[in-house]
Amino acid sequence: MQRVKNFNPGPAALPRVVLERAHAEWFDFAGTGMSVLENSHRTKPYEAMQADAAARIAALYKLPSTHEVLFVQGGASTMFATLPFNALGDGKRARYLVTGTWGEKAAKEAKTVAKLLGQPEPAVHSTKRAEGWAFASVPAQGSVPFEASDAYVHLTTNETVDGVQFDLGGPAALPTVSSPLVADMSSDFVSRPMDLAKFACVYAGAQKNAGPSGVTIVIVDKAWADACRNDIPVIFQFRTAIENRSLYNTPPTLGVYLVREVARWIDEQGGLVAMEAMADHKSKLVYDAIASSAGFFTSPVDPAARSRMNVVFRLPTPELEAAFVKAAEGEGLVGLKGHRIVGGIRASLYNAVEETWVLDLVDFMARFRKLHGH
Ligand SMILES: *Cc1c(COP(=O)(O)O)cnc(C)c1O
Repeated sequence: MQRVKNFNPGPAALPRVVLERAHAEWFDFAGTGMSVLENSHRTKPYEAMQADAAARIAALYKLPSTHEVLFVQGGASTMFATLPFNALGDGKRARYLVTGTWGEKAAKEAKTVAKLLGQPEPAVHSTKRAEGWAFASVPAQGSVPFEASDAYVHLTTNETVDGVQFDLGGPAALPTVSSPLVADMSSDFVSRPMDLAKFACVYAGAQKNAGPSGVTIVIVDKAWADACRNDIPVIFQFRTAIENRSLYNTPPTLGVYLVREVARWIDEQGGLVAMEAMADHKSKLVYDAIASSAGFFTSPVDPAARSRMNVVFRLPTPELEAAFVKAAEGEGLVGLKGHRIVGGIRASLYNAVEETWVLDLVDFMARFRKLHGH
C-alpha cells in the first residue's frame, strides 16, 4: 500500500493512528457487535461516544460551562446562513471583517438573510485589493469602527484559499470587541490554544483539521443562543441543538466518531500547545524555503498575516506552477495546486501533515528551483 504525502486543503489528511483505530473497530464499535455506521444514535454506546467527543473538544480548549459544543450537518457554508437567521433582530446591524474568499461568502449570505428578516444590511470591511493577490492582510488595528450596538462581529480566523490568518497578538491580532464575536474557524480549528469563551459562536467544518466532511462543530455561548430568534424553523435554531445535545435529529454519526478519535490523538500528542508548535515549525520550513529562493518562490501575503495552515506561494509563471504541481505529484507530494479562484501553489499543513512530508516538500522545492535555473 502506497500512502501519499497529502497536502490537500480539505477534505485533508487524517492522523494515521485515527484511521487505524477506526479500522480496528470497523465491524464492532464499542462492543456492540456492529459498526458505528449501523448503530442507532439513540443508544447508550453512541450517546456516550458523542458526549465524549464534545467533552474532548471542550477539554482541549479548556472551555467553560457557559459554552456548549454542538455537532451539526451542512458544513460551514450552511452556518453562513444559520448564523444571521439566529442572530439578526431588533434592527441591529451585523459587522463582517472580510479577509478572504470564505468571509466574502459569509457576508453575502448575511446580506440575503438580513433582507429576508427586514433587518439592516450588514456592514462589511473587506481587505480585498483591486490588483494582484486579492486578499493579503487582515484589517489594521483600530481601522474598523466597531459599535457596541453591532448585532455581532463575524470574522474568519484563517482564510483557507487566500492563506491569510489572524494572529493572537501583534499587528494581525484578533480584534477585541464589546459585541458578540463570531468566527468561522473551519481551517484552523484545534490548531492552537485559544480562549473560545470570548466568542459568542465559533463554527468549523471538520474536514480541514478536525475530522471528515459531513460534520460541523459549533461552539456557542448558551446565554447568547438563548437570546437568539425563536421565530425561525426549530431545525435552524441553535437552542434546538443545545437542548437536545445535538440529537434532535440524526447526527452525522461516523463523522462525530472520527472527530472524537482526532481529539483523542491531539490530546496524546500534547494538546493544542503541541499542535501550535508543530504548525509554527512546519509553516516556517516552507516560508523559509520561499524566503531563501532568491525570488523564484514568492508569498503574496503580508508577513504578519501569513497562515500557518495554508501556505500559499507563486512561481514566476503559471506554466512553472503547473509543472511544479505535476513533478511534485510524481514524488508522492499531492494536493499542492492552489484554489481555482486564485491559482498558484497552496501547501495545507494541518495537524495530521507529518513533519517529514514537509521536509520532503522543501527539499523538492529546492531541487525544482535549481532545475529551472535559479
Ligand atoms: C472549507 C471552508 C468553508 C466551507 O466549508 P463547507 O463545509 O464546505 O461548507 C468555509 N469556511 C472556511 C474557512 C473553509 O475553510
